[in-house]
Amino acid sequence: MALTNELLNTVLRHASQEVSRKEFLSLAGRGLAVGVAATTLASCQSGTPDAKAADATPTTGTPASEVDVATTYTAQGGQKVPSSEAVSPPAKVPADESKPIELEAWKSDVDPKSGAVPTPMPPDKRVGYALVGLGHLTLEELLPAFGECKKSKPVALVSGSPEKLKKVAAQYGIKPESCYSYQDYEKLKDNPEVQAIYIVLPNSLHAEYVIRGAKTGKHILCEKPMANSARECELMIDACKKAGVKLMVAYRIQYEPYNRQVRDMVRDEKFGKPKYIEAQNSQSSANPDHWRHKKALAGGGALPDIGLYCLNTSRFLLGTEPTEVFAYMHSTPGNPLFKEVEEMMSWQMRFPDGVIVNCVTHYNTHDSRFYRVSAERGWLHLDNAYAYQGQRLQTSHAEGKAKLQNQITIPTKNQFAAEMDHFSECILENKEPHTPGEEGLQDHRIMEAIYQSAREGRPVKLTAVKGMDAFRGPEPKEA
Ligand code: NAD
Repeated sequence: MALTNELLNTVLRHASQEVSRKEFLSLAGRGLAVGVAATTLASCQSGTPDAKAADATPTTGTPASEVDVATTYTAQGGQKVPSSEAVSPPAKVPADESKPIELEAWKSDVDPKSGAVPTPMPPDKRVGYALVGLGHLTLEELLPAFGECKKSKPVALVSGSPEKLKKVAAQYGIKPESCYSYQDYEKLKDNPEVQAIYIVLPNSLHAEYVIRGAKTGKHILCEKPMANSARECELMIDACKKAGVKLMVAYRIQYEPYNRQVRDMVRDEKFGKPKYIEAQNSQSSANPDHWRHKKALAGGGALPDIGLYCLNTSRFLLGTEPTEVFAYMHSTPGNPLFKEVEEMMSWQMRFPDGVIVNCVTHYNTHDSRFYRVSAERGWLHLDNAYAYQGQRLQTSHAEGKAKLQNQITIPTKNQFAAEMDHFSECILENKEPHTPGEEGLQDHRIMEAIYQSAREGRPVKLTAVKGMDAFRGPEPKEA
């Protein structure tokens, strides 16, 4: 009987996630068939200990390793398949929903650790988003990414197409009454499910929709480039401040694990001080009628659309701000795609301490998206740096006579989900976003200097900015 009580106590402790597998098996080693313990555990967990099962427990027996727990399960047709009792191995299950369940470990430290078990918030507690514009980015990336979000959910749509609204709302479980036309945009104010508006429209519409959106009292996440000019950015920041709502620019790279890993290695001076960055973001484009090829709608060509990644990511990696730029711009004469916007921009930025960043962006080459940070004692090279996935990080340094080139792999995350969840976290915890409107404004100031330099054929100085991360808010908690 004494041993039966010990069993009960231990199983009860098991139910409160304190017993180790060693203890669990040592009980089995003293004759407790795993199935019996599981039955007892199940009754303990339901709060009705089964005294009979406990009493029936043998007090002596064979060691665990020799206990044959395999039995058979007979299917309806009489076929027998192997069976053993289903049990719950020891796990820590914190009551706090933001803390992950810790499962029993089974891998050694020889291999990389797997990421923590996700901690999604219950759907009714997540921040509700209204997506404005149902184009490529919204349909191909953002709406699917909500499936990987922990703190964000889509609850409303704004579009000029009733057909798209109907179909997409049905696909993502959005209520028909939460679908709005552009004319009805302001009605978002009266939708209590919406806490955030995500602007995913052509660049020239960002300013208007951020300013109108701020008046609804909802927080605003705005796609990059933030606007068509620094002046528009200032107006957007002012409007959000006046309305008391948060404004974040969707710089997904700053929430993407590989780029964050490089940033940490650069700032920790893993290979000494960074000296030089080479960055390229190029792709090909088609369809002269698309808004991206219209200056009034896009604000520019390759530079604000994709070159911006080289610019913003270099600032993010270094944490400092450029003091001078020098640029070349080119558009092939006669190519209808580049009648209004530039085909290519190549520019250099001078950062403090003599760090040079050399960038190129092109709308008329096969895609190429990488950067290399050259430091005193090694380099870090990130391929597919600005892509939605497929980042490949290589480093090179010397040890004695050996030159070591390593490929670093880390767990990946959907960068759109990470970015949206960061904004949700800011709303839920009343924090400033890591990439606020001021971060977007600074990029526009620099892009305006780049265009000026390309037009005038001379270097253009920028206002010096002191300190690190001058335009960024607090670090995201989970990126
Ligand atoms: P898109 O052309 O595929 O979609 C734009 C949407 O805006 C369409 O649904 C269209 O109907 C609507 N729209 C409203 N008024 C319009 C007008 N006057 N002309 C054209 N379309 C109009 O564009 P997209 O690729 O989804 O880009 C949208 C925004 O997202 C842009 O600011 C772009 O820079 C940004 N973007 C960001 C990323 C990223 O990785 N963060 C990737 C792609 C695009």
